[in-house]
Amino acid sequence: MNRISTDIAIIGGGVIGLAIALRLRADGRDVIVIEPNEPGSGASYGNAGTVADYAIIPVGTPAVLRNFLSLLLDPDSPLAIRTSALPTLFPWLARFAYESLPRRYLKNAGRIAELVSDASSAWTEFAAEIGASHFLSAKGCLYLYHTRKAFQAASADIELRRRHGVSQELLSAGEVLQLEPRLPGVDGGGLFFPQAINLSDPGKVMHLLSSAVQQAGVEFVQASVTAIARERNGVRLVAPPYEVHARTVVIAAGAHSRKLAAQVGDPVQLDTERGYHVEYDMPELPVERPVCPTAHGFYFCPMQDRLRVAGLVELGGLSAPANPRLTQALARNARRFFPELGTPSRIWFGFRPSMPDSVPVIRPSKGGRDIIFAFGHGHIGLTLAPRTARLVSTLLAA
Ligand SMILES: Cc1cc2nc3c(=O)[nH]c(=O)nc-3n(C[C@H](O)[C@H](O)[C@H](O)COP(=O)(O)OP(=O)(O)OC[C@H]3O[C@@H](n4cnc5c(N)ncnc54)[C@H](O)[C@@H]3O)c2cc1C
Repeated sequence: MNRISTDIAIIGGGVIGLAIALRLRADGRDVIVIEPNEPGSGASYGNAGTVADYAIIPVGTPAVLRNFLSLLLDPDSPLAIRTSALPTLFPWLARFAYESLPRRYLKNAGRIAELVSDASSAWTEFAAEIGASHFLSAKGCLYLYHTRKAFQAASADIELRRRHGVSQELLSAGEVLQLEPRLPGVDGGGLFFPQAINLSDPGKVMHLLSSAVQQAGVEFVQASVTAIARERNGVRLVAPPYEVHARTVVIAAGAHSRKLAAQVGDPVQLDTERGYHVEYDMPELPVERPVCPTAHGFYFCPMQDRLRVAGLVELGGLSAPANPRLTQALARNARRFFPELGTPSRIWFGFRPSMPDSVPVIRPSKGGRDIIFAFGHGHIGLTLAPRTARLVSTLLAA
């Protein structure tokens, strides 16, 4: 085995691991990132690109709990589950049900609200630091409601956002069309988040981030960590063909972090919400900003020279292949809004790292600060990358 010694080893080169690497390097630490694939090519590549400072509502809510079965049975619903994964998923689902109870949901929303509150300004600063400002668009985000009933059903969430100071504007059906004239009319109107920003190409931003990390002097080690254990003077990682000895390790392996956390005696209830996207190459885009038809659980995302339709939640674990039924549902429902969309130019699926309460795990492991957890960002990992990096930096400075 080739031996490497370092001050800090970060496991995982997604947006979370890379943002942490850049920050810790700026703090003057010696850092390596261990990543088997192209950095930033996991969930951090395929997302909807929204820096969602408004996304304070956890996935588990009293309404989701009430409607869970009907959501599973509706072929057009945003939620699907693989029955083969049910036995493994059961503990996560049980906790998810608990976290969806009224008191827990309010508490979880409060914790998320605190984390996302400065996301737009933090990302603006972060993008400038990595030379990606030209990929930021500041036109807000729009939720659509098909019917008045659907809009009324969202009133508890709207009130909760208001209480947490989220900037949001209720739009009539006519006002929605003024903002996005190519959309078909929706009876329920819309909800506009004027301060939200978005990335017009998350993949290219990941390239810039990874280059900035490398230029800052961080070494990338192309390997997968298979074992982690504490030693007398730090932490030992097995990452064939390497053996790494680090004073401090940050676990930022996204949806794959659970096994590593368990190996250091601090099990967490991390699982994955698989998400999908389909893309259409087109020079003229039908929307100006991310638009989410809430009933379908995806975003129309304007990207450079293409429209990305990204979202859905499939509970199905890390090993099963993509489910073509879900990409077909994405394409079918996208055509309801824009019938001119033909066959997708490409399709993708990936793994959101998801906790049952939708609150990311950013803390020292129970055994001590020599191992830091930074995973479980679910639907808002892109949004929270700069904030997570700051929090980890503070934890290591203490
Ligand atoms: C369809 C979809 C839409 C989304 N839309 C948004 C959005 O609009 N806004 C938003 O904020 N978030 C969004 N998200 C969520 C966001 O993409 C994720 O929360 C975020 O990318 C998680 O980043 P990460 O670095 O933790 O994980 P990842 O990007 O998955 O990176 C983890 C990395 O760890 C590596 N790794 C795994 N195991 C090991 C190991 N043993 N050793 C070494 N390395 C390892 C992997 O190869 C991977 O590169 C969306 C997600 C999906 C799927």
